[in-house]
Amino acid sequence: MVGSRRPRVLIALVALLCVVFVVIMVAGGSAGPFVSDVGTVVIVALAAIASLVRARARRGRLRVAWTGIGLGSVAYTFGEGTWTWIETVRGEEVPFPGVADIGYLGMVPILTIALFLVPTPRQSAANRIRGFVDVAMIACSLLLVSWILVLDPLVSAGASATALALGVSLGYPLSGVVLVTVVLHMLAVLHRDSPDVAPLTLVGVAMIVIGAGDSAYTYAELHNAYQSGDLMDASWFVGFALVFLAARLPGKTVTRTTPDAAPGQAEPRAFAMLVPYVAVVAALICCTFSYVMTGDIDPLVSWGRSALILLIVCRQLLTLLENRHLTRHLEARVLERTAELQASEQRFRALVQQSSESVAVIDADSTIRYQSESVERIFGWPAQVLLGHRLTEVSGRKSGLRIAAAIESVIAGPESVTVIEVPMRHQDGRIRLAEMTITNLLDDPAVGGLVLNTRDVHDAKELQEQLMYEAYHDSLTGLPSRALFRERLVEAIARCAGRDEAAILFLDLDGFKEVNDSLGHAAGDALLVQVAARLRAAVREEDTVARFGGDEFGVIVESLAARADAEAVAGRITAALEAPFEVGERELHVAVSIGLACAADADDVEQLQRNADLAMYRAKSGGGRRLAAYDPAMLAGLVERLELEADLRVALARDELALHYQPTVDLRTGEITGFEALVRWHHPTRGMVSPLDFIGTAEATGLIVPLGRWVLTEACRQAVAWGAGTTRSLKMAVNVSVRQFEHGELATMVAQVLAETGMPVDQLCLEMTESVLLTDTDENLAQLHRLKELGVTLAMDDFGTGYSSLAYLRRFPMDTLKIDRSFVDRLGGEHEDEALVSTIVRLGRSLGMTTVAEGIEDSVQLEFLRGLRCDYAQGYYLSRPLPAAEAGRVLVNGLANPIGEPVPSTR
Ligand code: C2E
Ligand code: MG
Ligand code: MG
Repeated sequence: MVGSRRPRVLIALVALLCVVFVVIMVAGGSAGPFVSDVGTVVIVALAAIASLVRARARRGRLRVAWTGIGLGSVAYTFGEGTWTWIETVRGEEVPFPGVADIGYLGMVPILTIALFLVPTPRQSAANRIRGFVDVAMIACSLLLVSWILVLDPLVSAGASATALALGVSLGYPLSGVVLVTVVLHMLAVLHRDSPDVAPLTLVGVAMIVIGAGDSAYTYAELHNAYQSGDLMDASWFVGFALVFLAARLPGKTVTRTTPDAAPGQAEPRAFAMLVPYVAVVAALICCTFSYVMTGDIDPLVSWGRSALILLIVCRQLLTLLENRHLTRHLEARVLERTAELQASEQRFRALVQQSSESVAVIDADSTIRYQSESVERIFGWPAQVLLGHRLTEVSGRKSGLRIAAAIESVIAGPESVTVIEVPMRHQDGRIRLAEMTITNLLDDPAVGGLVLNTRDVHDAKELQEQLMYEAYHDSLTGLPSRALFRERLVEAIARCAGRDEAAILFLDLDGFKEVNDSLGHAAGDALLVQVAARLRAAVREEDTVARFGGDEFGVIVESLAARADAEAVAGRITAALEAPFEVGERELHVAVSIGLACAADADDVEQLQRNADLAMYRAKSGGGRRLAAYDPAMLAGLVERLELEADLRVALARDELALHYQPTVDLRTGEITGFEALVRWHHPTRGMVSPLDFIGTAEATGLIVPLGRWVLTEACRQAVAWGAGTTRSLKMAVNVSVRQFEHGELATMVAQVLAETGMPVDQLCLEMTESVLLTDTDENLAQLHRLKELGVTLAMDDFGTGYSSLAYLRRFPMDTLKIDRSFVDRLGGEHEDEALVSTIVRLGRSLGMTTVAEGIEDSVQLEFLRGLRCDYAQGYYLSRPLPAAEAGRVLVNGLANPIGEPVPSTR
């Protein structure tokens, strides 16, 4: 508290001043009264100022207390000032009683109030009452002492004095009594946590010094022995020097870590307990002394003694009551705590017994000293059976060895823990996997052993393994899943370390969606199971075949020449899937698109998989049924595709699309009977983009719907324009995509366009590929019927490239069959192919459909088809697709390559 340098200097200074003052007083002489008067005025004034300043810096009761001390000192300053003025300045005798006495005595009530208001701890009512009794005891004792020593002689001596003089004379010793009482009380009750406990204690000491001085002064005055400049003057100087010091001392910093003591629990200090008794003993000694000296007992002393005895009895009674209360309270607390402890022990016991773990305490040699009963529920063994046995012996040889090793590992370190998994035999003979946590509490006096917490984790482990298997395997085919594929791929890449020793194949079945959609998921699943079996059979034992989901599969090929081997595997897979699959009563054909990527071309697994994906996409977009190996250009292709997609979104709005028209020619008459509208995209930077490059994107993004509507409107508008003013009825063929069937009501859209453009319905032909017949069959069939009801002609485009059989066609209301260019291409060469085309033409005719041959590029093909009595033809040989204006001219002027003699009709 007084730890820093400043307070030490201050204390030293004050001490020095006091010593100097005392020395001057002792030395006496003429300077004595002057120094005494002036010095006291100055020190009292300083004490007053310092106290008031400190009061400003304090709050609450402390502020009140310091203000009181300050104001008391001000009063005293007034008294001392007046005295000094009269005695030192005016050189006169100070009158008694006089104005100075007002100041001196005025200090006492102010200080009494101030010191009663110092902060005290919260107290119970009983404590407070006892406090008052204590104050009364002190006051009574001091009064007795004062009476015997000062007051009584004063009263006797002052019998001749005026009542005022006597009263004032008595005022000084009484003030001393009051001050000392108040101070003793304050010291007893002062809050020990108060920041000003030391300064206030010092003020208390100062007041006792001043009080003693007052009493001594009165005593001296009584015997006419007082003179200004006497040694007793030092008591006031020293007293107020201490007040000044107290007001200047720094307070203690209060950290409120402990809350104030609860009421009734503020423990009285030994000092507080003793002070009243000390005072009483002092008073009684004084009484006895007076009796011995005078041989007489003053009635007031006798009254005082009686009062003291009464007060002591009162205090004893209070203490007794309080003790009884305390004992009861303590008994109740003990009972309460005992009940709490019992409850907590019961709770703990129940926890251990009901726990899903077996808890045991074993010695270092594994002898079981404590075993919770829960072991019976978990492992079937009653706890008593195990007690006293060595765990290493009862848990079987292998587990015993492992447990012994685990004990060995924890035994060295106090509180060290180890967890092991060991098989344990259940009482019913089953072997269960147990997780055992061994904690070394050998050094813990409450335990003194190794604590074993054992759980049955058998089912959890099994479930975990099951879940692991599920995560790593495809439930339908039992093949590894994508996750396991990836893990194995990571390992394979690590093994091959950049050499050409690992490659992957990504497989996607062609036409699987159609099977699923038309025959149902059960058939799709059955097909996938068979495909998986064939894939497994087509690879080596050590190669991984995984199913990624849907109809996607992956193969990891690891070998010294992975690229070549992967190609060979792809070949074997394609061949293996060629034979039809038997699903229910049906025979199904599926082909596969394969993307191949080599680890040597990729930096990491992600890149390798992306490469394979790109290659697979290429194989797929190239028409499927093929193998594509990754090459870096594919990545550029991907970027290009994404750009194309973005551009296509605005192409329609920017009017970048146009239609070209390819004539359809009657093979019998050589006349142009109609046109097929084919969309073209004049891309601002890429130039002309083929529909083959953007129709797929339009389909994937759904843009095909507005695009399709635009094509239909434009084609109809053109057909109406060409028909205007002529009697000629031209057929306009417009391609529709299967996606247009899926998005919205196609028949309604067609009807609207026909109405908008004024196109006669019988002049419109809608071309669609076999995919329309294979996806969402029933819904598409209904849509086709609605189109048919409108009166629109329906044509099957690119016939022969899809997966439908001719027989399948019967279900659909198709009017025209367009034989794919790939068949026409092979005409004029191998006989088998010619036979194929002729079969298609014949079968088409037998189904009542007209046949159109696509892609005729030379006269040989043309003649051939005429010979087969195919109805119509299209092809570069006759005319390329042309812009509307040129097509219009061809319509007027005729074809560049006119067809020869008309053939007789067979229709
Ligand atoms: P498609 O409906 O089978 O159209 C015939 C395609 O064969 C046209 O290609 C045409 O230019 C081409 N072709 C015609 N004669 C010959 C020939 O003698 N030799 C060769 N090598 N090719 C010939 P194009 O215009 O590139 O269209 C390709 C495909 O894009 C079309 O095949 C059609 O499926 C689709 N398509 C074109 N326009 C549209 C459209 O407006 N909507 C939809 N949904 N698809 C369209
Ligand atoms: Mg077409
Ligand atoms: Mg076609």
